[in-house]
Amino acid sequence: MSTLRFKVVGESFKKKAMAVTKPTELTSEYYGKFAFNREKMAKYLSKETMKVITNVIDKGMPLDRELANHVAAGMKMWAMEMGATHYTHWFQPLTEGTAEKHDSFIEYTTAPGGSVIEEFSGKLLAQQEPDASSFPNGGLRNTFEARGYSAWDPSSPAFIVDDTLCIPTVFISYTGEALDYKTPLLKALNSINKAATDVCHYFDPSVKKVFSFLGWEQEYFLVDEGLYSARPDLLLTDRTLMGHESAKNQQLEDHYFGAIPERVQAYMQEIEFEAYKYGIPCKTRHNEVAPNQFELAPIYSETNLAVDQNLIMMSIMKRIARKHGFRVLLHEKPFAGVNGSGKHCNWSLGTDTGVGLLTPGKTPEENLQFITFLVNIMMAVYKNDALLKASVMTAQNAHRLGANEAPPAIISAFLGSQISNVLDKIENSTSEEAIVMDSKKKMKLGVTHIPEVLLDNTDRNRTSPFAFTGNRFEFRAVGSSANCSAAMIALNAVVAAQLLEFKAEVDAKIASGLTKDKAIFDVIKEYIKITKPIRFDGNGYSEAWKVEAKKRGLDCETSVPVVYDAYLKPSTIEMFKKVGVFTEKELQARNEVKWDTYTKKIQIEARVLGDLVMNHIIPVATRYQSMLLDNVYKMTQVYDKAKAEKLSAHDTALIEKLSEGISLIKNKTEEMIAARKIANKITNEREKAVAYHDIILPFFDVIRKTVDELELIVDDEMWTLPKYRELLFIR
Ligand code: ADP
Ligand code: MG
Repeated sequence: MSTLRFKVVGESFKKKAMAVTKPTELTSEYYGKFAFNREKMAKYLSKETMKVITNVIDKGMPLDRELANHVAAGMKMWAMEMGATHYTHWFQPLTEGTAEKHDSFIEYTTAPGGSVIEEFSGKLLAQQEPDASSFPNGGLRNTFEARGYSAWDPSSPAFIVDDTLCIPTVFISYTGEALDYKTPLLKALNSINKAATDVCHYFDPSVKKVFSFLGWEQEYFLVDEGLYSARPDLLLTDRTLMGHESAKNQQLEDHYFGAIPERVQAYMQEIEFEAYKYGIPCKTRHNEVAPNQFELAPIYSETNLAVDQNLIMMSIMKRIARKHGFRVLLHEKPFAGVNGSGKHCNWSLGTDTGVGLLTPGKTPEENLQFITFLVNIMMAVYKNDALLKASVMTAQNAHRLGANEAPPAIISAFLGSQISNVLDKIENSTSEEAIVMDSKKKMKLGVTHIPEVLLDNTDRNRTSPFAFTGNRFEFRAVGSSANCSAAMIALNAVVAAQLLEFKAEVDAKIASGLTKDKAIFDVIKEYIKITKPIRFDGNGYSEAWKVEAKKRGLDCETSVPVVYDAYLKPSTIEMFKKVGVFTEKELQARNEVKWDTYTKKIQIEARVLGDLVMNHIIPVATRYQSMLLDNVYKMTQVYDKAKAEKLSAHDTALIEKLSEGISLIKNKTEEMIAARKIANKITNEREKAVAYHDIILPFFDVIRKTVDELELIVDDEMWTLPKYRELLFIR
């Protein structure tokens, strides 16, 4: 009998919900307690310092040494009062998805525990040279024989974890290339601010700044810790590499919005309390579609802050899960046959004057402004569909995209019938009949009717990777384990580049004598025509859409390493250069990292799969087979030959099935190992990743299929790995 499996299953059934001590203070009193936010700054910094640092944060003014000294002194005082003994620069290396870097805050930092806080000064706040040579850099630092530097990002609050003050920083090479996610994200946010502000000036000259907003929705699975420990694949790859579907999974849809199980309820409560301490405004929590799948979402905020909060939240989720006897799975596809997890990124733009640029307005100008931004976003998505896909594509997310439960591996945009009607109307009208100038020279379009119509905009399409949802776009293709930055860098950059182009076109028309409104209208109308192929309101999961999308010329590539090529297309390199987000060298280096990460992911999975086959599945199947053989033999001892044969016909059939299965998985595993040896000799990172995708990955399905068949026939008591029904239904 499989002792470990039955032990952990038995124990997990007995577990009760952990008592969660509610904070004694009101939420408002402890909210943001561990974050050095503006409120703390105002308390710990002098008025003068506060004034200057606010300018640095809000207006991007430079940070000088003297100011850094003042801020550091205040920050240190606060941190020491909070009991911090160490400090560290906290940054976001390019290790997205690599399991070993995702465990806790400390692993994101430069040195476990950081440096002793008494030494903390303005110099150390502003810049540090971390000993972080092992973070991936795509050859950037090797080439220049230089070290990485981290430098404070004042726009994201420092925070305390245990006894360590964590200071959000960018991470760059000696020669200035970005080695992280934050640096290009800040550049992309800067460029969209500039480009969008300029376009806003057509409508409202008083706008000084445009913010990019992000509201993420984090999906995750919870698995009992004991069961998790008995699954080497979960332990090492965060997903199950085998496991026959449970007889019941999500067919009845009874988990979605069902009552939250008690143990999970306690967990959710505690992660919320923790989130509040860091000033993360968690708002919704509910069950997701798959059994043991849940979701958590905060209220949206400025994108850079929202990204940091998501990273902090993922750490909190992991830490607290262990306290409750769970493991949280952030992998995009931990279980075959049930839904995977995404991280919908709700994205919008808004001005410092409080106007949501994706919110249909009440006045004709506001509506024209809304349509202008909407159509430019369509244009940006249309021109960069392949890049946007590349920005969310990983070895893990590939299991989800296009798997009939998540957005397809084709980027299209859903607008809903009301907005589509408005665009159709503009497209089909001659400008003369569409633009009616009233006495105050205001433009009137059919567009004026949008606000009323949108009030009941309940139009929802869950199958679209990029959907307009009333006042924002929801980029749904983003994966649950991802750093949202990758998607946010690409999205904000492409829209910024598009807005620059739009402005140039409109200005040229104005220079040639058109009125501003007519110029804008003409360009928009043209864009509406051009971007038609990217608009799709139908079922994104259908096979018909794949055929249709290809006809429309949309990017349909599914091979992860090939999808990454989109980053290196000449037009993409040009686009990133234009908005000042990436240099060509950086793009090349980052792709090397992406390919390498992909290869390593598949390599690790292949090793674990081989190990499970050889050390778990084959021994068990052989033992069961031998038990059956024993039975068949004993039959011949008791009965005559004919009767014995008749009585053991069933056993004999099973023996043959086991035998075939065993030799198939053994042979395929050996073939896979041999293929890996060949693939490992390839030195070009892209080619190696392609080999892993094309040659190694297909073995997984063949092996798994047979293993899962064996699982169905082998004695349940012998099976060592916790089964899907146990992993998915015990909570
Ligand atoms: P859903 O129906 O998609 O689950 P929710 O009401 O849960 O929608 O909202 C999802 C996320 O969208 C939340 O984080 C919310 O704060 C965010 N959100 C709402 N409005 C905006 C906006 N204008 N810009 C960005 N994010 C937004
Ligand atoms: Mg959503």
